[in-house]
Amino acid sequence: MGKVTKCCVCERKLDKNAVGLNKKLLDKNPSRFFCIDCLAAYLDVSVEDLYAKISEFKDQGCTLFL
Ligand SMILES: [Zn+2]
Repeated sequence: MGKVTKCCVCERKLDKNAVGLNKKLLDKNPSRFFCIDCLAAYLDVSVEDLYAKISEFKDQGCTLFL
């Protein structure tokens, strides 16, 4: 808690949405996190797809997202 989460590839700091997306798409308690850009590359999807996912989860009222 309170610790800065960084991307395991590029070391960019992750915001709450990026962290939430990792939890939703990878694992509830991931050992490593990806930023949006690196997650898109890792999952072989577009960045736009991931932002669309974030909106979807928000609409479902998921508290992992801002
Ligand atoms: Zn990254």
